[in-house]
Amino acid sequence: LTQSTRIEVAQRGRRALISPAQFPRSVGELEMALRSGWDFATQLGIPIGDQLHFYELLRRLLCACDARRFGEFENESWWRFSGAQQRSPGYRRYLADGLTRTLVAARAREMSARTGGYILLQLLQDMVRPGAQVDRVLNAPTNQAWIDPWLSHLRSLGVDYRLGHRVETIHSRGDEVTGVSGHTVSWPSQALGSQFADRAKYYVAAVPVEVMQKQIKIALKRRVPELGKLDKLVYRWMNGIVFYLTEDVPLVHGHTIIIDSPWALTAISQRQFWPQVDFSRFAGGKVQGILSVDISDWEANGSYAAKGKPAKACSKHEIAAEVWAQLKASLNDDEEVLRDDMRFDWFLDPDIVQPNPSTHTNLEPLLVNTKGSWRYRPEAAMPEVPNLFLAADYVRTYTDLATMEGANEAGRRAVNAILKATGSDAELCRLWKLREPGGPFTLARLADQLVYRVT
Ligand SMILES: Cc1cc2nc3c(=O)[nH]c(=O)nc-3n(C[C@H](O)[C@H](O)[C@H](O)COP(=O)(O)OP(=O)(O)OC[C@H]3O[C@@H](n4cnc5c(N)ncnc54)[C@H](O)[C@@H]3O)c2cc1C
Repeated sequence: LTQSTRIEVAQRGRRALISPAQFPRSVGELEMALRSGWDFATQLGIPIGDQLHFYELLRRLLCACDARRFGEFENESWWRFSGAQQRSPGYRRYLADGLTRTLVAARAREMSARTGGYILLQLLQDMVRPGAQVDRVLNAPTNQAWIDPWLSHLRSLGVDYRLGHRVETIHSRGDEVTGVSGHTVSWPSQALGSQFADRAKYYVAAVPVEVMQKQIKIALKRRVPELGKLDKLVYRWMNGIVFYLTEDVPLVHGHTIIIDSPWALTAISQRQFWPQVDFSRFAGGKVQGILSVDISDWEANGSYAAKGKPAKACSKHEIAAEVWAQLKASLNDDEEVLRDDMRFDWFLDPDIVQPNPSTHTNLEPLLVNTKGSWRYRPEAAMPEVPNLFLAADYVRTYTDLATMEGANEAGRRAVNAILKATGSDAELCRLWKLREPGGPFTLARLADQLVYRVT
């Protein structure tokens, strides 16, 4: 991982706001932080009363005890908690809706105030704490930097890693898992191959929630409430598209949030983070820059090539053209940052499967921590099933957001549970709570514990 140092908020007709993605480390960064803070306070049409209201929300979150967080904030939507309905359009766009929608694909109206609020606080704390880093990215394409080395490492440890094996049934007798079975599949065509069946002593389900809900038959769901409750969890579409450019267009040294884009786009220009990657081998040197874009809202209507349709209802070509147009609309203000002649090619996540232009499926949606969903999320270990463990981003974790960190923590929890189940004396994986400011805030949280108990 390598640190990105800037965050850009771009929008049509206004100068982009660029701020350091960490506590300022130089006079230049301090100036930039002050300028972006000033612009934020004065240029975005958020009345001072609404800004103060937002600071008050942050204070409430910081001073609330755990019981209030789970008893109160968990059961309220971030939208309601933030008072968005009664506030100015600027407040709604930037503070209540924009940040959450763009950063975590979570609709402010659906996400719990607990998850939305505390993740936002984490991001803000990392921006203002000296030495902290709010945003780090891979220093090469994902396969090269991570997946391939990880796979080699696992195989070197003796793991029999079988690619293209789709589990379709988890078999059980009583409360115990007795085996799994399914088919081999080709990728990306998803064509089914031969059948397989396997048995083991312990099983880890490390597949996404929508797969646990619909794609794998799990008879145990009828016996084990923790598994049955998984069906109540909610997921939404979030997927990416990559544009290959004939010129390198660095934008900023970090993520660009296109805050007013109908499809809630975030973009990052990759080349600056990939120092070892030889671009001369991409399309014979014709590709000099790579722009990766996340599309977080697939239900809002597009304004350009989409002809008023949401991304979900567009063809792949329409999606590419619409995303490109939305990027240009917000990035090409004072100067023409993106030009059509730069666009060499594009690649839409093949998880978007389009049997015909109106019935798309998404093989990789993203869990949303909707209000009240904590009670449906299972622990990595379920006391009723001694030999099945869960390791995916929907598991209850301190991280508490559908991210790679959340999935990683769930994996560590599953490992610890297996070590316990097998009576192993191997060292447990470390787990840690998210960092919170101490001092007066600790005292405030203690006081709130008393107040919450008596009210
Ligand atoms: C577009 C997008 C951008 C994101 N950006 C970020 C980001 O910047 N930072 C971040 O931290 N998180 C990000 N996330 C979220 C993050 O990717 C997920 O939360 C995380 O990958 C979840 O990990 P997991 O192990 O639970 O599931 P996955 O990573 O989805 O892994 C599940 C695995 O199970 C396999 N599988 C599925 N079905 C079956 C089956 N039936 N049988 C066998 N195997 C099966 C899948 O092929 C996959 O390999 C993003 C997500 C999306 C969609």
